[in-house]
Amino acid sequence: MAHRAGRHFLQIPGPSPVPERVLRAMDMQVIDHRGPEFGELGARVLEKLKGVFKTECPVIVFPASGTGAWEAALVNVLSPGDKVLMYETGQFATLWDELANRIGIVPEFIGGDWRHGVDPEKIAARLREDTDHEIKAVCCVHNETSTGVTSRIANVRKAIDSTGHPALFMVDTISGLGSADYRHDEWGVDVTITGSQKGLMLPPGLSFNCVSKKALDAHENSGFQKSYWDWGPMLGNNASGFFPYTPATNLLYGLEEALKIILDEEGLENIFVRHQRHAKATRIAVEAWGLETLCQVEEEHSPVLTAVVVPDGHDADHVRKIIHDKFDMSLGTGLGKVKGKVFRIGHLGDINDLTLLGALSGVEMGLELAGVPITKGGVQAAMDYLAKTA
Ligand SMILES: *Cc1c(COP(=O)(O)O)cnc(C)c1O
Repeated sequence: MAHRAGRHFLQIPGPSPVPERVLRAMDMQVIDHRGPEFGELGARVLEKLKGVFKTECPVIVFPASGTGAWEAALVNVLSPGDKVLMYETGQFATLWDELANRIGIVPEFIGGDWRHGVDPEKIAARLREDTDHEIKAVCCVHNETSTGVTSRIANVRKAIDSTGHPALFMVDTISGLGSADYRHDEWGVDVTITGSQKGLMLPPGLSFNCVSKKALDAHENSGFQKSYWDWGPMLGNNASGFFPYTPATNLLYGLEEALKIILDEEGLENIFVRHQRHAKATRIAVEAWGLETLCQVEEEHSPVLTAVVVPDGHDADHVRKIIHDKFDMSLGTGLGKVKGKVFRIGHLGDINDLTLLGALSGVEMGLELAGVPITKGGVQAAMDYLAKTA
């Protein structure tokens, strides 16, 4: 393949670009994962991780993709045949529902139109009907990466509390953590699920379960057979900074560096503001082009990504292909039932104003080249907003 000068624009909503510093931090010799040096690294990272979840609870790290942490969350607290309540926010919620079905859980899937977040009232209404407490857990996706809609998890918590129902609350923030405001303790989440390759700015390969006291109690009574995913040996070993099997040592070096950037240098709250501002600039461009975002609720626009709807008669993947071939930029494809209808602009992780403007320029040029009818000037409108708020 011919050499392409300059850097590739990886503007998909995960994996996100890894900061050079984090890459350098991983470029190290592997160490003995049973040796004293590793124990110190493990202990430091496990403690520091709590900061991004805003929790005092333990965080478990699996060498796995986010999907592994989905499964781990379910098999550690539930038993085969248990009912859970899930909510169709988009493709990722659908995949979690399918996973639950495959392992022998009985999910009830509240239907959604992929343009709105979780409706807390629908959750509360279903829990109120469940007077025998057959529903063991409520499972929601925080930042639905297929649609660019962020559900208001605090409101879902309030809705659950209003019913007095004892169900556990599990939240997938695989693409939200480290980019969108998230509070494990304050929001009373029992299991938070995340992965390394999105807001945490690492390569793929680590996934996480943050677990409340209530989840640990449920773990004691869980009837699922499990071994690799079992929290028990993990927590036992983690107490001294170690793991029951070989951890992804070099990814942990990278994680320590990423946590330093996120928590000590830029600061979580500044990161949230940066993501909101870039998301807003992107929406300003989309609006100026005369296009629609998939998200329909002002307060639910994702700070992580924007899903842009292409007009009928046009193929979003054709737009993506032109942008990839002509301008060396990757945009997210439409997933599941919005395949071909939307493309997704990732604006998460290690990016700044000029990265975003470069990405939006590529989108504007690509839309024109693909023959999608737009009004020019989206990038200019985004520039005006970014300059005004610089
Ligand atoms: C990326 C993502 C997943 C899947 O994670 P993998 O690492 O691909 O297994 C699940 N849920 C959400 C919301 C995601 O963004």
